[in-house]
Amino acid sequence: MDYYELLGVSREATDGELKKAYRKLAVKYHPDKNPGNKEAEEKFKEISHAYEILSSPEKRSRYDRFGEAAFQGGGGFGGFHDPSDIFEQVFGGAFGDMFEGMFGFGNSGRGASLRGRDLEYSLELDFLEAAKGVTRDIKVRKYEACPDCSGSGAEPGTGPVTCSVCGGAGQVRQSGGFFSIARPCTACRGEGKVIKDPCKSCGGTGRKEAEKKISVDMPAGIDSGMRVRLSGEGEAGRRGGPSGDLYVSVSVKAHPFFSRNGQDLLCVVPVSYPQLVLGDKLKVPGLDGEIELSIPAGTQTEQVFRLKGKGITRVDGRGRGDQLIKVHLEVPKNLNTGQKKALREYEEALGGKAASGTENIVKKMKKMFS
Ligand SMILES: [Zn+2]
Ligand SMILES: [Zn+2]
Repeated sequence: MDYYELLGVSREATDGELKKAYRKLAVKYHPDKNPGNKEAEEKFKEISHAYEILSSPEKRSRYDRFGEAAFQGGGGFGGFHDPSDIFEQVFGGAFGDMFEGMFGFGNSGRGASLRGRDLEYSLELDFLEAAKGVTRDIKVRKYEACPDCSGSGAEPGTGPVTCSVCGGAGQVRQSGGFFSIARPCTACRGEGKVIKDPCKSCGGTGRKEAEKKISVDMPAGIDSGMRVRLSGEGEAGRRGGPSGDLYVSVSVKAHPFFSRNGQDLLCVVPVSYPQLVLGDKLKVPGLDGEIELSIPAGTQTEQVFRLKGKGITRVDGRGRGDQLIKVHLEVPKNLNTGQKKALREYEEALGGKAASGTENIVKKMKKMFS
């Protein structure tokens, strides 16, 4: 996508025109204004990148000559700044007012705008991993506190100084007739401190993109659609602000033998006709190993046996569900001559009693239609 087209400006656009175009689009697509809208978030990223390139005379001339290819050597996305940082740079002093007016500054309070973003990670688990619990290592690419300035954003050896406009209070009082209204200080964005010497390594943002390996404990009983929150494992905050959280959302793969209904573990066991008629001891897989299940003589097909407490652990650790085992009569196909003969003899030996169930139904139906 052409950066000029993206911002809706001509190739001859002045710095002022670029800024104006970016401001208009950034306000429209800002994630705070479009919560949960991935498309808007993507658009916000794109226009921020486009503006980052075109607003720098040096990068702009490189882009004009080589196009996007000029910026692909530097690690792709890693070479860019966080869109939120660009947004803040552009809106600068108007930041506090703008958020208050547009998005409702509300009770988010001092420093809230510096909090790192929450991240979401999708993790697929095997059925048994989810049922029994598992520890997984995941790799997340995200903003981490800048190692050079320890996240402060100030050049090592220097520190933030008290804001001269608000005297460190983070807000200024504006008097309007009878009232006096407290507003976030625009000079320090409500932080009470300003950085005079930005850290060269991170450009004063206090953070850098890096890949982090995180060990995630998935509790036994977790199921598709559930999320595990890892507090503080989201993106690092800007200039020492609090980190966001990481949400690991889980999807569980189907199992060839087991399924679940809440905390109950379900399975179907194929059995033969003689096993149902005569009763038998079955070996059935369970969560803790093999289980022996006695089925009594005269068991019907599709009958369900419930094993108390052999199901899946509740995700809060308070108890387990049951294991439900359904027996299913498997009717053999392609019997050989000897087997067929034996089956006919068996039928004769019963004297037609085997079909007594059907006979009753036929009698009932005759009554209904007579
Ligand atoms: Zn730094
Ligand atoms: Zn201030």
